[in-house]
Amino acid sequence: MVKDPVCGMEVDETKSEFESHYGGKSYFFCSDECLEKFEENPEHYIANAA
Ligand SMILES: [Zn+2]
Repeated sequence: MVKDPVCGMEVDETKSEFESHYGGKSYFFCSDECLEKFEENPEHYIANAA
């Protein structure tokens, strides 16, 4: 499981359809809403991710 950097929910990376790549890493999301928010401002969410 990985953390959705937008809402903080745990996401199963083997099942998630919502994936984005940024800075050489893969990020997974619970929904297309979170994915869109991330892609609008990835630096913001990466900085806040634990
Ligand atoms: Zn989410």
